[in-house]
Amino acid sequence: MAEGADSRTPGTDPGASPARRPVQGGSGGGLLPPAGVHLALSVIVALGVGAGAIWSESRPTPDVGALPAVYAPPAETTETVRLSWGETLGDVLYSRTGMDDNEVDALLRAFRVEASPRRIRSGTSVVLLRRTGQERVRAVDVELNLDERVRVARDGEGWTARRVMTPVRTDTLFIAGAIENVLWSSILEHPELTGMPAADRAIVLHRLDQIFQWQIDFSRQIRAGDTFRFVLEREVRPDGSMRSGRVLAAQLRNQEIPYHAIRFDPNGDGRGTYYDLEGRSVRRAFLKKPLEFRRISSRFTSGRYHPVLRRWRAHRGVDYAADRGTPVMATGDGVVIHRGPKGGLGNAVVIRHPNGFRTRYGHMSYFARGVEVGTRVRQGRVIGYVGATGLATGPHLHYEMMRSGRHVDPLGIELPPGDPVPEDRRGDWERALVRNRALLSRTPAAISPRVAMGGRSPVEEAGEEGE
Ligand SMILES: [Zn+2]
Repeated sequence: MAEGADSRTPGTDPGASPARRPVQGGSGGGLLPPAGVHLALSVIVALGVGAGAIWSESRPTPDVGALPAVYAPPAETTETVRLSWGETLGDVLYSRTGMDDNEVDALLRAFRVEASPRRIRSGTSVVLLRRTGQERVRAVDVELNLDERVRVARDGEGWTARRVMTPVRTDTLFIAGAIENVLWSSILEHPELTGMPAADRAIVLHRLDQIFQWQIDFSRQIRAGDTFRFVLEREVRPDGSMRSGRVLAAQLRNQEIPYHAIRFDPNGDGRGTYYDLEGRSVRRAFLKKPLEFRRISSRFTSGRYHPVLRRWRAHRGVDYAADRGTPVMATGDGVVIHRGPKGGLGNAVVIRHPNGFRTRYGHMSYFARGVEVGTRVRQGRVIGYVGATGLATGPHLHYEMMRSGRHVDPLGIELPPGDPVPEDRRGDWERALVRNRALLSRTPAAISPRVAMGGRSPVEEAGEEGE
């Protein structure tokens, strides 16, 4: 990740420090170490009432825009302009800086050495930098994208431009909490995580869903009182957005059963995967659900679990409410043995899998291209799209699993664990396990919402051990 390393190096020009880059609402970050160092800011983020007070080992995630201060910052003022529609960089320079034609021309010429002015669209942020007390603009920063900007600075009588990577700092979040209602997503909307932009929280939720997709169906199996903890290593830009983030270790305790996922990179290619504490892959022959969690409608999932469960025997399937057109995935490798109308199931696909398994997917609006009888499909391949064909009152997916001709509960069935860590990587795995597990044990103890609200000790689990 040479690129990533570069991006962490702030400009050497003190004026190029991120602290000088104004962000709306930014109010200095005096409590933080200086910029220019790679911050390994350990943040304890505790979910649940009262948890923050108990585990305030470190400051919480800084607010969006709370940038690290520099050493003896030069007195300088900055002015940020967002280009409105049709406005050009030249327009801004003319209207805000008092530069004459020659100066503007020279600046734009310098700018073009680094980037095409065409890349500047409405909404682009342009920052004008001046020494305090001076009218004259010393430098101009033009944002190219979230990770790059062009700095055009005075150089003698002219201007020179260079690209500056947006500095990112790396931090590690230790997050734990208890689930208060069925929807996992509401946890990540918890006020304690508001320092993170909503889009990033959605990414984190998606990552966790991807990690646990073989063990748990987030939309149906999560219960009030379930607890979770995970360690997220991320790169954060000065505006608080996440450049990258990966879960190093996670634990989900679902109805008293703990599930662990420890990140390890068995091939050393940077594409890590997850193993349980015994070094067995978390992957299974079948996904727990044929839809992505984030595509499943919230209107049905909340509180609808029990009716569905009670109906299980008569109904013999799991219904997922989702918008028409939501992609439906094959939950395991297999061969398509039916594709077309099938009675009350409407447009249905049936897949035959190894070891006597079959899965059926009903009520689809249409099928994915290339999916025919006889097609070999891999786990996760899109086979069709949610609809309301057949006996359906609204768009939803009906999903069934059979083994040796008998219906089984796809949420309850035990499947053998995936491949273990390769023998020749055992040593590296053991080290990764020790390290990431130690990180996991640094998460705050999971808080039971009921216990916490009752004012008793919120510590439900003291640590990682004893599971
Ligand atoms: Zn159904």
